[in-house]
Amino acid sequence: MQTEFEIIEKFFFKKNIKAYKGIGDDAALFKKDDDNLWAISTDTLNKNIHFMAATDPYKIGWKAMAVNVSDILAMGASPMFALLAIAMPKANSDWLKQFSKGFFECCKEFNVELIGGDTTRGPLSINVTVLGDVNKNSVLLRSNAKIEDDLWVTGNLGLPALGLKIIKNKIEVPKSIAKNSIKALEKPMLNKFTIDKIKPFCNSAIDISDGFVADLSHILRASKVGAKVNLKDMPINKWIKKTGQEDLALYGGDDYQTILTASKNMRSKIEKLIQKNNLSLSRVGIITKDKKLRVNDNGIEIKLKKGFAHFEKK
Ligand code: ADP
Ligand code: MG
Repeated sequence: MQTEFEIIEKFFFKKNIKAYKGIGDDAALFKKDDDNLWAISTDTLNKNIHFMAATDPYKIGWKAMAVNVSDILAMGASPMFALLAIAMPKANSDWLKQFSKGFFECCKEFNVELIGGDTTRGPLSINVTVLGDVNKNSVLLRSNAKIEDDLWVTGNLGLPALGLKIIKNKIEVPKSIAKNSIKALEKPMLNKFTIDKIKPFCNSAIDISDGFVADLSHILRASKVGAKVNLKDMPINKWIKKTGQEDLALYGGDDYQTILTASKNMRSKIEKLIQKNNLSLSRVGIITKDKKLRVNDNGIEIKLKKGFAHFEKK
């Protein structure tokens, strides 16, 4: 079986494009007017793959919108409009009522207007497309990380992956941790406020959907650079650290937090913004000329496993 990236590369990638930015970033970009670009991205949630059948439909609605907004924010853009394509085996009013409630609460939170979509019969699957705009000088491309940039990450990592493990009955954890983890998995809270505050000082960004290591690797590959990360600086839940499950934060995925890089000349400005606005932002490492990703645990380099792929290599 091929990885999702091999599939895209082999069957869908085309070299000559009309768009400002096509395949290969969190969203595609095309001209809006002389100064601004449209950013557009789409993501699908499938039953039994992205959510379990028993998941609260309110949370499915919220997440279907949130994961798309996350990609738009990772381009430095502001979300504006959305399309919703939904396939379901039958029309269940109670389910739809809750689903649409979650969906529109997320729309309201991020200022998104639903302007169209498609409703069909089929196995439950929800596809959302979000359109946002960004000044062309403020775009955050995966390919623009610079050597010696600081590496920043919003929020906390690892709880959603723990939530997934709990749902799959793989582990027993304290009740409050279980509750928070499942909530983090089912209702991702994006850090738009933090991203908006610091994006003017940043060079590149990506949101974390497949895991910190996997998604940081996308920035590194696109920018032809490497990175050095300090595990002790990573924003990881205390209980996860205490129990030695840092792998959940490194490889877990579904975090919908954002990795940003910024020149170290911007460090003091960003630190002042963190203080002033109480931002949830951690400086976790630096971009290096050496094209490797190294994660150090107390000065010792740890051997990395790989990140999440929808179609694993067999
Ligand atoms: P993200 O995790 O940010 O949503 P993905 O890892 O899913 O991005 O996709 C990587 C890139 O490949 C993105 O630019 C995405 O738009 C593009 N892509 C994914 N699937 C397809 C496809 N079937 N056809 C064309 N482009 C695709
Ligand atoms: Mg993304």
